[in-house]
Amino acid sequence: MFCRTLRTVTPSAYIDLHSAALLTRLQRLVGISTVNPPGENYAAITTELTRDLTALGLRTRRFTIPRTLLRQTLPPAQHAFPRYNVLGKLAAPGAKKTLHFNAHYDVVPVSGLWRHGSAFSGTVDAGWIYGRGTADMKGSIASLLFALQALRATGTTPRLNVEVSFTADEETDSVLGTGWLVEHAPIKPDYAIVMEGGELDQVCCGHNGTLWLEVTVHGRAAHGSMPERGINALEKMSALVLALGDYQRRLARRTFVTPEGKTMRPTINLGGEFSAGPGGKINTVPALARFTIDRRVLAVEDQSAAERDLRAFLAAAARKIPQCKISVAKISENFSCFSPPTHPFFTAMAGCVTRVRQQPTVFNVSTGFNDMHFFSHHLKIPTLGYGPGGEDFHAVNERAKVKELLASAKIYADILTRFAG
Ligand SMILES: [Zn+2]
Repeated sequence: MFCRTLRTVTPSAYIDLHSAALLTRLQRLVGISTVNPPGENYAAITTELTRDLTALGLRTRRFTIPRTLLRQTLPPAQHAFPRYNVLGKLAAPGAKKTLHFNAHYDVVPVSGLWRHGSAFSGTVDAGWIYGRGTADMKGSIASLLFALQALRATGTTPRLNVEVSFTADEETDSVLGTGWLVEHAPIKPDYAIVMEGGELDQVCCGHNGTLWLEVTVHGRAAHGSMPERGINALEKMSALVLALGDYQRRLARRTFVTPEGKTMRPTINLGGEFSAGPGGKINTVPALARFTIDRRVLAVEDQSAAERDLRAFLAAAARKIPQCKISVAKISENFSCFSPPTHPFFTAMAGCVTRVRQQPTVFNVSTGFNDMHFFSHHLKIPTLGYGPGGEDFHAVNERAKVKELLASAKIYADILTRFAG
């Protein structure tokens, strides 16, 4: 009797009727502080998420990152903090294609004074839910789980097989999170939705990449009273930094117009970190100087070409400066990605967003990066970014809008029931 009554309710109506349940779940997730670094309470949250997915009928497994790999990958201060990824699968009768949903469950550290006391309160106030992770991105997790709950409760069969991954460490480098997942977990998606990067009326079809280099300038120490006997690394570094002004201007001439009509340009930020070598003293000619370069790679640029080009420029610039010896090390990189939003998967998603939000939809390219590139670049499948988003990401009073959490849940349910691949 109860079941038959529910069957007459659509997933969307179910979501509206039971909206309080979404918020309760999100409060519970926000209450487990998964601050990274160092990576706290990952065991607790992945236990909870495994239980939630299992209860929703997904075949679910929690993967523990092997200790040796963890020790090889993370700095010693994080060796006591285990890493886990959760994977759930739901086979839909008759479905031929598989859609993968991904979200990271770690959050950035907390500081400052929050409006409702604790940063992990999950307080609902005037249509918003507050707390670290509400926007980035436990809100997405809660929306997706609620969408799956709505499908199950209303007896609605998805037209696609479903894979769900909740992964670690996106706020650091994703190596043991989504990076590990696409390499080692038994997944075989045809499409992916990373549940951030696009929000409101924007569906994300790509994001910038990063290339982080550290340049070391090697000089020669001498007594400060006889500077002519040394090679001043700071002076050489200054000349090199000035020369990089040319490179900045050269990059600024490269443009990429996104599908929504925004012009993006590659950038470099110099010296986010800079330092002298050990033994620096006011009366010593500095023997070493070091600075970083944060190169933002356009969604349509080739990452390795960008790196080769920058390294070649640095080498040539250093050769023009007398006695300027440098070495260049790569600190890290994140691939950019871009899928032209002409594929039916993108059209279908834009249709769902437009239908649920009653507003035209545009395709955006995100300046920051997220885990989309692991699916788009590594697995080479059509990948988009969409989630409930929010305000003050990584800041005090991070919050998500209740209306958008519910809208995202409806959109996820909608794509699963309308698109067959
Ligand atoms: Zn995020």
